[in-house]
Amino acid sequence: MAAISNLFANGADGDFMVLDEAIELTCQSLLAYWSRHSRHAVAWSGGKDSTALLTVLIHLIDTGRLPQPDVLHVFYADTRQELPPIQQAAEAVMARLRQRNWIKVHVVRAPIDKRFLVYILGRGVPPPNNNTLRWCTRQIKVEPMAEALVAALAAIDDTALMLTGVRQGESAIRDDRIVMSCSKDGAECGQGWYQQVLPEAKGIRGRIATLAPILHWRVCHVWDWIGRVSYAPGYGEWPVSIMADAYGGDDAADIAARTGCIGCPLTEKDTALEIVSSMARWTHLSALLELKPLYRWMREPAQRLRKSGVERLKSGAIAKNPQRMGPLTLEARAEALVRILDIQRRAGVDLIDAEEEARIRELIAARTFPDKWDGDEPRADVWLDSVYSDGSTQPILFRELVGS
Ligand code: SF4
Repeated sequence: MAAISNLFANGADGDFMVLDEAIELTCQSLLAYWSRHSRHAVAWSGGKDSTALLTVLIHLIDTGRLPQPDVLHVFYADTRQELPPIQQAAEAVMARLRQRNWIKVHVVRAPIDKRFLVYILGRGVPPPNNNTLRWCTRQIKVEPMAEALVAALAAIDDTALMLTGVRQGESAIRDDRIVMSCSKDGAECGQGWYQQVLPEAKGIRGRIATLAPILHWRVCHVWDWIGRVSYAPGYGEWPVSIMADAYGGDDAADIAARTGCIGCPLTEKDTALEIVSSMARWTHLSALLELKPLYRWMREPAQRLRKSGVERLKSGAIAKNPQRMGPLTLEARAEALVRILDIQRRAGVDLIDAEEEARIRELIAARTFPDKWDGDEPRADVWLDSVYSDGSTQPILFRELVGS
């Protein structure tokens, strides 16, 4: 491919910042903080924003605009729930990163019992939702990254600068509020958390500063960089164009699909998966479209247990929310395991690997439940007398009709 003579010929419209200005601002932002820290790290989710950050950062270092650090730590959160084009691009980028002896790649994973599907199927915690049970991002991404950071910083006495791919477009220049991008369309799950939650994590509090050097980039800058400039000679020749498939191919900038776990229960639609699986080379992934309905099924009362009455706290007080719904039944977990193994076989991906499958089976066989549950509670779709938070009870009307 010929070298690009004018990087910014496309997209400059007079009113908006163009890519060279966006990169220049990124460079200035990095230079302002770079030398204040002796350690530098990148929190990389594998999605488009953090990949753009990572590759532009290395381009700035390679071209001498930013000093090469002794070590650049790159932390990649591998949940194994990512879409294959994202996963494949991440692996190709990691292979390139490892060619530079000053870059240390850390692939971080949650401990086995806390991984997404082991936690759900083995321990019985229902799939996360937007209301009460949003445990996933912190557990499968932020905490493993914090632990890897603690280990990387253990031998030094200094602070580290952690870079994230949080992006809010040009409004970010006027708006210093950084949202938890996990829930926003077009965002990468985890990025906002890395920026806000990671610095406060146990073991690293006060030891890392976070910076979002592409906060001001618009989505067109990201795609101009990822889809065109970054794989040109002189700009790193990064093998990342495949990731555009996960965002809508040629229409990626307009569609702005959000990436994260396949079938993420926190989103209404699995836009990225729908787009990818409609492409000829990824049609085998269409089986993965069954995951989201399966997660919904798992959250229904018939698949879960319920407290039959009020719960007492250690203090003796009555807990709020009597008769709350809780974990998945053992039967629902066993059935969901069979269905997910079938889905992944048809899709040709590993959402659950052999070690995790064995662990899930072991935990189900041991009747493992979350704290405060023992598995003897009634199923949540069974009609019970109503119990109120003051402990009073209202018997079921027409008990004979419901057979209890
Ligand atoms: S993508 Fe969805 S399921 Fe995965 S960690 Fe983020 S919010 Fe949780």
